[in-house]
Amino acid sequence: MTTTQHKAYGAKTKDANLEPMQIERREPGSDDVKIEILYCGICHSDIHQVRNDWKNSVYPVIPGHEIIGKVTNVGTNVSRFSEGDLVGVGCMVDSCQECDSCKKDLEQFCENGATFTYNSEDKHLGGHTYGGYSTGVTVNQDFVLKVPENLDAKATAPLLCAGITTWSPLSTWNVGKGDKVGVVGLGGLGHMGIKFANALGAYVVMITTSPSKAEDAKRLGAHEVLLSTDEDAMKSHTGTFDFILNTVPVGHDINPYINLLKIDATMVMVGAVEPLEAVNGAGLIMGRKRVAGSLIGGIKETQEMLDFCGEHNIVSDIEMVNMQEVNSAFERVVNADVKYRFVIDMASLKN
Ligand code: NAP
Ligand code: ZN
Repeated sequence: MTTTQHKAYGAKTKDANLEPMQIERREPGSDDVKIEILYCGICHSDIHQVRNDWKNSVYPVIPGHEIIGKVTNVGTNVSRFSEGDLVGVGCMVDSCQECDSCKKDLEQFCENGATFTYNSEDKHLGGHTYGGYSTGVTVNQDFVLKVPENLDAKATAPLLCAGITTWSPLSTWNVGKGDKVGVVGLGGLGHMGIKFANALGAYVVMITTSPSKAEDAKRLGAHEVLLSTDEDAMKSHTGTFDFILNTVPVGHDINPYINLLKIDATMVMVGAVEPLEAVNGAGLIMGRKRVAGSLIGGIKETQEMLDFCGEHNIVSDIEMVNMQEVNSAFERVVNADVKYRFVIDMASLKN
């Protein structure tokens, strides 16, 4: 198979800094789209994977699954995309397309295992897949998204993961007008959660550990800010939420949030994958409450989210960084100090 060389940044071990690397990408097969990467967002998952927090990383890890780029070349079966198109690639680059999940447009739950953008088996070149911290990528056309041209391209990058991960639960649980919605954790995911819940007509409460983020939360679309460390304030909201989206990136005590739910209401977890602190069964039983989970979203749903963003002028609030600054950017994400998503300008890697 013909390949081309690309510059990239990756980590060789879980304790290593990201450093420059050279990788190969396949030349497009008949169903492939070749993309020159312009921008790539930094998701907290990139850090979890580099640091092997989920115990399944394969090295080198070249992260990046919030990819925006220009099409440079397409395979012979590709008619939806052509050279020069602005496109996006999120967390997946392939799936079996045949199982029940794939047929229901839920490729993220592919029964034969979706191919994730990085750290999945690379069926074409062997080894494992490499993400968007690089100058180019080749992707099956069914996993390439059209990006609305009216939006600022840089600020659309985070929609490919932070966007769909918050959009999908809000849409699955039919959040809309009149609902009181809580978003826990004001980071990359949380700030998109506020924007979407607000655009869908909900009454949005930002639930945060950081008093300093209150003003921003309101600017982003929160109607109210609730400090989760303020017990009295938490008590005053007991039993009043129709829906809570929890984006906290680590295991934590979710009992205080369960107390906030109304009868029959649901809290959806998207952040913590590790064990949570013990849940008080009575908190769920007394009110028929639910705790659920959600993983990114399917490709069809991702396109719907991008189209909604195009119509409603929704993008991420971003801080641009050069590829060479990625290690300090990682540190700032871990310290909950990003407003509200870092996006890497890939021009800095090409020089
Ligand atoms: P992020 O930018 O780091 O934001 C997380 C926010 O959570 C922080 O800004 C902070 O907000 C709050 N927080 C952090 N540590 C906390 C703690 N110990 N207790 C309470 N709150 C805490 O991260 P992100 O990129 O939004 O990602 C969030 C999580 O979602 C990560 O674990 C990521 O891997 C995961 N994720 C899941 C999916 C999925 O499909 N399910 C997709 C993408 C990402 P405040 O300062 O407001 O408290
Ligand atoms: Zn992500």
